[in-house]
Amino acid sequence: MSAHLVDIKPFARRGVCPALSAPMQTGDGLLSRVAFTDGMSPEDLQNLCALAALHGNGLLDITARGGVQFRGLTVKSANALEVDVLALGLPLRQGLAVETSPLAGLDDTTIADTRAIVSRISDAAAALNLHERLAAKMSVIVDGGGHVQMLDLLADIRLKAIDGDFWQLMLGGAEAKALKAGVLRAGDAAAIVIELLVHLAEKGPNARGRDLDLETVCGICGDRLIERNVDVPTTAAVPYGFMRLTDDLSAAALAPAFGQISAEALSALCRKASALGIISVRPGPAHGLFFVGREGACEALLSHAQQAGFVIGADDPRSSIAVCAGEPACASAFIPTRDLANHAAVEFAALLDGSLTLHLSGCGKGCAHPTSSLLAFSGTAEGLAFTFSGRVSDIPDVILPFAEQKAALSRLARLYEKEHKPGENARTLLDRLGRQKIVAALRQDDR
Ligand code: SF4
Repeated sequence: MSAHLVDIKPFARRGVCPALSAPMQTGDGLLSRVAFTDGMSPEDLQNLCALAALHGNGLLDITARGGVQFRGLTVKSANALEVDVLALGLPLRQGLAVETSPLAGLDDTTIADTRAIVSRISDAAAALNLHERLAAKMSVIVDGGGHVQMLDLLADIRLKAIDGDFWQLMLGGAEAKALKAGVLRAGDAAAIVIELLVHLAEKGPNARGRDLDLETVCGICGDRLIERNVDVPTTAAVPYGFMRLTDDLSAAALAPAFGQISAEALSALCRKASALGIISVRPGPAHGLFFVGREGACEALLSHAQQAGFVIGADDPRSSIAVCAGEPACASAFIPTRDLANHAAVEFAALLDGSLTLHLSGCGKGCAHPTSSLLAFSGTAEGLAFTFSGRVSDIPDVILPFAEQKAALSRLARLYEKEHKPGENARTLLDRLGRQKIVAALRQDDR
């Protein structure tokens, strides 16, 4: 056994990110995660599928941040998996999570190419060994715009392109709630991010981007922080479907339902992608797999993927549901989240119109959706907790008996059918009805 495997994170430290060399204990064995700095061939992804079947339980997660997780490992098989994955020579991310669009460098619709800034931050962080001293979940997002939206992803430090020359600096949380610290020139952006990371490292492993206040940031940035706070327009990017990148290249963005897929099914999709001449694939936000190739190949792959049960459009009700591993895969879970998600996708498909997120969480930790959602359900020791327009970690509006989990979701569907006005989307409807009426509907005993 290699030395680092002696260091497997015990269950009590589940907040630590599972990496390839530091697997985490879950309800269905150990879990290892890899993330990528570039695209790979469909054959490479097929090889990863084969390793998931060989060493794990044959299930793969594509995470909300574009990581690939192997499930059902043992100490021995996790060790073997690490050796085999490294032998594939894939562009694996090491050290600090510096994230950008999976289509970076390929997408002509971006405002700015992020690759140089990402490389400078990653290289400097590695040279300074910062990831050893920073919080395990520390993340930097460099968002150059384009087809892939990153605004819902939490980031300790976020750079968002205003144009080719200027970047907005934001700190903590998802974009809507982040502290907008000011504007940086492109030439200063990477150096300032590194200085902020060094500052956080000096504060210790619990310091996060949200702990930085404006005075501290101004002190670090000096006159490189331009007193010009602009609202960066958010483009109406859609998470899945056909995306034209350049005159010659397109992307097919699709996702496994609820972020999980069998190695066999993903391998079959990769075989099809290879046969169609798809050039590369890279996982990305919203559990997406971004296949890049010629227009015809991408369109054919999307059509095939839809037949195979993948999500290929934001109008798929499953794309409005954020769901974690739940029972039995996670030992902390109180409810079988995926079972409930399948029930919801069928029972109230009309309500899941893309205007809201239904969050189904196995416990109050909220791994699948750390930010607020309009409908947030989570398992607790007492029953199914519901929070309207909040996070699953908030104090719930009501806790329903376990036995009524599916019935509660069905009651929401009936409420929608009864109250829905033509032309009104689900978010507007639920906002109009308000918390009290929704909670009353959930409580109703209609058995
Ligand atoms: S939120 Fe879900 S995956 Fe995360 S610890 Fe709780 S049950 Fe497990």
